[in-house]
Amino acid sequence: MRVSPGNGRTQRRGDTFTGGVWADSALPAADGVAVTTVIFEPGARTYWHRHEVGQVLHVTHGEGWLQSATGEGQPLRPGDIAHIPAGELHWHGATPASVFSHVAVSIGATEWMDAVTEDDYVNAFGRGRVVASSGPAG
Ligand code: MN
Repeated sequence: MRVSPGNGRTQRRGDTFTGGVWADSALPAADGVAVTTVIFEPGARTYWHRHEVGQVLHVTHGEGWLQSATGEGQPLRPGDIAHIPAGELHWHGATPASVFSHVAVSIGATEWMDAVTEDDYVNAFGRGRVVASSGPAG
């Protein structure tokens, strides 16, 4: 039996996330690329944000949600790979009833906006879409 050590330095994420969110850095940002395993408690999610070059999410556990400010949204399940193009305003996180984790490959700077309101979050699941006007102003 052999166990390879992890880095043992899980960080709680706060300022740009709602709810309990934890992150393990797999590859610290180098040349504008960062690889991070992110764990969301049920109901936890990112703030609205956009990535300078783009982001790929590889879902590893639980049920989550990915929502674009343009109204496009879809559930995320283990094994799914989400491609988020440069500059697309969006958020991602756990459903209300499931923990959720993904490996995030983030390229370029991340521009953080407003928190996803409870109304937007609930409506995302209730109607399957968030109307564009409910995103952050500007
Ligand atoms: Mn993102």
